[in-house]
Amino acid sequence: MAESILKMYDYLVIGAGSGGLASARRAAQYGVKTAIIEHGRLGGTCVNVGCVPKKVMWYAASMAEIVRYGYLKDYGLNVLSQDVKVAWGELKRKRDAYIKRLNGIYAKNLEKAEVELIRGNATFTSEGNVIVDGKQYNAKHILIATGGRPTVPEFPGCEHCITSDGFFELEELPRKIVVAGAGYIAVELAGVLKELGSDVTLLIRRNKVLRSFDSTISCNATENLIKAGVKVMTTSKISSVSKDSTSGLLSVAVEQIGGDKVENIADIDKVLLAIGRSPNTEELNLPAVGVNLDSRGFVQVDEFQNTSKANIYALGDVCGKALLTPVAIAAGRKLSNRLFHGEVNSKLDYDNIPTVVFSHPPIGVIGMTQEEAISKYGKEKIKVYQTSATGMFHALTEHKSKTIAKLICLGEEEKVIGLHIIGNYADEMLQGFSVAIKMGATKKDFDNTVAIHPTSGEEIVTLTSADLLTVE
Ligand SMILES: Cc1cc2nc3c(=O)[nH]c(=O)nc-3n(C[C@H](O)[C@H](O)[C@H](O)COP(=O)(O)OP(=O)(O)OC[C@H]3O[C@@H](n4cnc5c(N)ncnc54)[C@H](O)[C@@H]3O)c2cc1C
Repeated sequence: MAESILKMYDYLVIGAGSGGLASARRAAQYGVKTAIIEHGRLGGTCVNVGCVPKKVMWYAASMAEIVRYGYLKDYGLNVLSQDVKVAWGELKRKRDAYIKRLNGIYAKNLEKAEVELIRGNATFTSEGNVIVDGKQYNAKHILIATGGRPTVPEFPGCEHCITSDGFFELEELPRKIVVAGAGYIAVELAGVLKELGSDVTLLIRRNKVLRSFDSTISCNATENLIKAGVKVMTTSKISSVSKDSTSGLLSVAVEQIGGDKVENIADIDKVLLAIGRSPNTEELNLPAVGVNLDSRGFVQVDEFQNTSKANIYALGDVCGKALLTPVAIAAGRKLSNRLFHGEVNSKLDYDNIPTVVFSHPPIGVIGMTQEEAISKYGKEKIKVYQTSATGMFHALTEHKSKTIAKLICLGEEEKVIGLHIIGNYADEMLQGFSVAIKMGATKKDFDNTVAIHPTSGEEIVTLTSADLLTVE
């Protein structure tokens, strides 16, 4: 039974992930009495089972790639072998220790900011109070920032599969793995596993990965996976997984979508499902307080992060829009600026959010795809410049990979409304360009920018009419 005594705050935040922590700390900075509730590790998905451990693994995979493709030898650096063997256990131990350090830093930061940390699972009562371990709390303003978790579909044997959360728990490199999914998490984890030495089969439901990206990106990303040795099975999905009780090995029955072919992949160590994310809303009892959810369970909010219930807000992954750490952080800070610092119009602009896929090579995109731009403005208003170049890094290497960049421009003044890059350093290249694009830069502004030589980035400010694509 819940105690009747309420503990009151000005601001109560549920979920100490990217968005919740940012919003709580910003509120406390304005002198607001703030508490944050968390049932797991501080830092949420990004720090514990997302961006941070993923990027550590991507760095390891990128270094393995350098050795495997013989780049060191190509540059006259003698290495004894091109065989890379990852000491997975050691890598995991160091990665986990780094994350533990980050968890500690987050705890200290909360303390310094004077945000009270309440440990436990939060649920709303029908009166709009929040219960944690039988104790009731309330506040003038309550934020739902509970994030999401990997979606696990129901099929025979789904209990034998892991998700991205399970990937970060693996104690050894799987010898042979099937990854299901075509989104960025599937692409990134399949790439890391392949570069570190697993035999990887990627099952995708259509013909290409990253289908919501510009078609140039999704085609090239798919080709790059195949070139790297990932077996990409198109128009495929898992119909069942079975486990051999003696060897513990898995068999995956793969169904051809729209066909009747069924293929069996045997002798598998792990099956990793990366087919989407579901919101953490079930446990919160939100319908009882009048907070509306959409058909998939995501919290419905307006552009100011207001839910359907006054004084209850939501942001980040739990709202299902632009599932990225910096989005949750920015929305959280803007909300606190509005609620506690008199910035009445403070809200996150969800247009032109840059995003990176840590594939091999990486991808950086901002703004509209060619397909979206044409469907919104008509093809006569759109100009598309595209370059495909082999970066100077590959001048001496036998194995080469291309950098492809595509600039989407609108109207007479050629306002840049989209930039899509796939190639080495695209991840680091994009941030600066995204400032210019967010400020409304035109192609002429790009032309007036002096290039930095020799870099791959210079390709983007040296596009000419010879690089114009015929827009269909
Ligand atoms: C594998 C992977 C890789 C990713 N890579 C990137 C990347 O490279 N770049 C990027 O920008 N984004 C990346 N993301 C996405 C990013 O992690 C999320 O967008 C971000 O963490 C969302 O922040 P949030 O605050 O909305 O939720 P979260 O960070 O998920 O935080 C929610 C918190 O709420 C807590 N919680 C939930 N329910 C309750 C409850 N009832 N009571 C108490 N606490 C509760 C959870 O334990 C969690 O700590 C990645 C995600 C994954 C899974």
